[in-house]
Amino acid sequence: MSKYSSELTYGQAAVFNPPPRETRIPSCAVYCGTCGQLSEDVTAGCANVQSRKFSQSGGCQLSLAVGILSTLANVAVIIHSPLGCCSNLSGMGALRAAARAAKGKPADDFVWLHTNLTELDVVNGGIDKLKRAILYTEKEYHPEAIIIANGCVPGIIGDDIDALVAELDGTLGAILVPVHCEGFKSRFVPSGYDSAYHGLLRHLVEPRERYERVFPDYARDELERYNDSITVNIYNVGSNSSGDETELARLVSALGLIPKVLPLHAGLDDLADIGRAALNVSICATHDDYLLGHLKERFGTPYIIDTFPIGITGTNQWLRKIAEHFHLEAEAERLIAVETKELVEALIPLRAELQGKSIFVGGGETRVLATAEFFWETLGMNLVGVKPHHADRFIEEMLTDLLPRNLELIVAAGQPAEEINVLNKLKPDLYIGHTGSNGWVTKLGIPNFPLFGQSFNYMGYSGAWELARKAVKILKNPSFTRNIAANLSLPLSREWLEADVSSNIKQTEAL
Ligand code: SF4
Repeated sequence: MSKYSSELTYGQAAVFNPPPRETRIPSCAVYCGTCGQLSEDVTAGCANVQSRKFSQSGGCQLSLAVGILSTLANVAVIIHSPLGCCSNLSGMGALRAAARAAKGKPADDFVWLHTNLTELDVVNGGIDKLKRAILYTEKEYHPEAIIIANGCVPGIIGDDIDALVAELDGTLGAILVPVHCEGFKSRFVPSGYDSAYHGLLRHLVEPRERYERVFPDYARDELERYNDSITVNIYNVGSNSSGDETELARLVSALGLIPKVLPLHAGLDDLADIGRAALNVSICATHDDYLLGHLKERFGTPYIIDTFPIGITGTNQWLRKIAEHFHLEAEAERLIAVETKELVEALIPLRAELQGKSIFVGGGETRVLATAEFFWETLGMNLVGVKPHHADRFIEEMLTDLLPRNLELIVAAGQPAEEINVLNKLKPDLYIGHTGSNGWVTKLGIPNFPLFGQSFNYMGYSGAWELARKAVKILKNPSFTRNIAANLSLPLSREWLEADVSSNIKQTEAL
C-alpha cells in the first residue's frame, strides 16, 4: 500500500482512531508562491517545507466532525470535553434546521449535550460523567444512535471512551458511536471529517445483522439488483446547498442513473445501506477520500474523486468521469452539449459586466481552484490570486491544468492577517471566500460574497449561472462595503500591511 493511498485496509477501520492526515496524505499547510511553483513542489513531494514565524489560530477538527454528525437524523451527540470546546457549536442547530427545511426533511431538533469537564475531572477522570450523560440521553431522548465526540482533554488524560462503549454495548436501545476528534492530534482541520466517518463506518454502516423480511417475489429481487447496478451515491458536504444537490442529482438522472445523495442529513438506514451502490462519487476530495477509500475496501465499490463540479469545465469533467464508468460517454456528450449551449448563451450579458474586473478566491482547496477557473476562463475576469486552506495531491492536476502558472498563491487555513496583507496590495474588484473571512475583507472595502452557502446554488450548470449573477449583483452596488470600510478599521498595523507577506514565511525541514 502506498503511503499516498487513502485505501487503507479494512483491518485499520477496526482500530479506534483514524490515522491523522499528516501520516496519511502528505499535505501542505503553509505556502507562499505561485500556482506553478506549488504544482512542481507537490509533484516533487517537497511542498511542506515552509512554516510561519507568526501564526493565528486555526480551526479545530472537533467542530468539523460535529458539523458532519449534527446533520444525521435521529441521533444525539455528546461532546465529551470542557464547555469551551462547544463555544462555536451553538449555531449548528440553526444550520441543521435551515438545511433540513430546504431539503424538505422533518424539522426535528439537533440534540446535543456536553459533559462540561472541569479541573477536578482532569484529575479524577471524566468517564463517570460521560456514562451519566449517555444514560441521561438514552432516557430523555431515545435516539437511534448516541455519538460521543471526544475532545482534547479526555484524549490527553486518557478517558477510555471505547471501553465504556464496550461496557454499555447491548444494554441500550441506541447504538453508541465513539468519534475520536481530539483537536491536538492534527494540524489539518479536515482530519475531523476522517474522524467522523471513521466512527460512522465502524458503528453505523451495516453495524449488526438485522432481520430482513424475505419476499417470495423474485422479480422484486431482480429489480433491486438492477437498481443497485445503476445507483450512484453522490457524497454531499456541509457547505453544499440543497440547490446544489438537486442540480447534481438532476444531471446524474439525465444519464439514466439513479442518484442517491448522502451521508449528510441521512437516516441510519441509508447509512447502513451505503455499500449498495454501483459507484461512489465525491464532490470534494477534502471531505471524502477516507470514507470512499474505506467503502472500496469493504464493499468493493469503485469511486471517483476528481474535480469539483463548479463552473463549466468542472461540471463537464465531473459528468464525463461518471459516464465513463457506465460506458455512457455518448450520452454524456449530448447532455453536456445541450447544457453548455444554453448556459453560455445565458452568461453573455453577465460576462460583459464582469470581463476585465479583478478577482481573488479563498477557501477549501478544490472548491477555490474550480471557482477561480470559472471566473477567469469562462467569465474573462482578471484572476489576481488564490488562497487554498491547504494543498495536497488532490489538486495537483488542477494546479497544472486549470490556472495560470504565475498566479499568486498562498496556502493558509484562516490566517486573516496574511490574507488581508495580500488583498490590501492586490486590491481586487471582487473577493469570494470562505465564510469568516468576508467580514475582514469588507472592512478593507472590497466587495465580496461567500464561497458557499445555503441560500443559492453554486454547483453544476445552474450553479454557474447563479454564481455569475451573484458577482454582477455585488459589483453593481458596492455601497455597503464602502460604508463599512469608511467607518470601521482593521486591527492591523501599517508595518504589517506594508510588509511582504513572504517575510512571515520561513523554510523548515521536510516533514
Ligand atoms: S482544539 Fe481541543 S481543546 Fe481546543 S476546542 Fe478543539 S477539542 Fe477543544
